[in-house]
Amino acid sequence: MRLDRFLAETTDLTRSLAKRALSNGEVQVNGEAEKRPARHINEDDAVAWMGEPLALVGLRYVMLHKPLNVECTARRGLYPRAMDLIDLPKAERLQPVGRLDVDTTGLLLLSDDGQWSHRVTSPRHRCAKVYRAHLARSLEGQAALDAVEAFAHGVLLEGEDTPTRPAELVCLSAQEVLLTVHEGRYHQVRRMFAAIGNHVEALHRESIGKLKLDPQLAPGEWRELTEEEVALF
Ligand code: URA
Repeated sequence: MRLDRFLAETTDLTRSLAKRALSNGEVQVNGEAEKRPARHINEDDAVAWMGEPLALVGLRYVMLHKPLNVECTARRGLYPRAMDLIDLPKAERLQPVGRLDVDTTGLLLLSDDGQWSHRVTSPRHRCAKVYRAHLARSLEGQAALDAVEAFAHGVLLEGEDTPTRPAELVCLSAQEVLLTVHEGRYHQVRRMFAAIGNHVEALHRESIGKLKLDPQLAPGEWRELTEEEVALF
């Protein structure tokens, strides 16, 4: 990799600021001042900027317990972004793997590995996502049985013309349910309940595929995935 690119990858410098740092003599390679942006950097080269050793960061995989009022977008907006909660170098490169609404809590994955993220979210892989929802209206007796059946067959969401894929609904109490879906349409869970005349008051994602939200993580806390967890997808 070229030295100017290496600097842009490992520091907050843009490529043009990296070039300026080089021409100012702020960069050393293997202990010697180096000014050439095109200098090729190998794995064994020791690069330092203003005396600070630099290292490339590898691909990162993070599980966040997303709290309320945090957005899964790359742009800065009204609310803090999920990546702003991750205290890792170059955290802005961590992209949410699928989205949760600003008022949904629970398991959110973030990564800078685009291929892995694609495996998690691609409809082809049909990764099961389990949501716990608190409903505005009670769902009991025959209405609960009807809802289980409707979701098992698929429901039409407003504005769409293909029904949802079969989803499994488990009623835990009159207003508390678990719903497992295998696709990721926009506001899918809220719209599925709207389609059967109910309303989701609170929504929490418990798991994606075999990966469950770590119960040790309080809302807003995160940790890196283990190698075994990364290999689940
Ligand atoms: N379905 C929704 O409606 N919202 C989410 O945040 C996730 C799934």
